[in-house]
Amino acid sequence: MGHGGARARERAFPAVRVPCSWCDAEFGVPEFLDHCRFHWRDVRVVRWDCPRCGKWEDVALEPDEIRRGYVYAAGVPHFAHMDGSNVPGLRPRRADAALRVEYGGRVWHVPDLGAF
Ligand SMILES: [Zn+2]
Repeated sequence: MGHGGARARERAFPAVRVPCSWCDAEFGVPEFLDHCRFHWRDVRVVRWDCPRCGKWEDVALEPDEIRRGYVYAAGVPHFAHMDGSNVPGLRPRRADAALRVEYGGRVWHVPDLGAF
């Protein structure tokens, strides 16, 4: 790790890399959020499509964290949390018919399942 001024911006928003669980691709957080397809409101899970290998996975967007896991049905669906990535500055919030996500000065709206 260097200590040059060129990397000063990353102090405010560290260059978090979010890996795909299926292939060896890693993505910056904005790129990751660009590929969230829908929000499953009942289980507070987002379906994410990997732009590299095309597989999808279920992730939970939490304050300062992206959690990986899977949805299982035991009477009602639950999200089983397996592991996660720390994403300082990630700010998800439920909005009308979408999950609103703020990160690094940008806003994404991941549409609720059934609302599109
Ligand atoms: Zn992948």
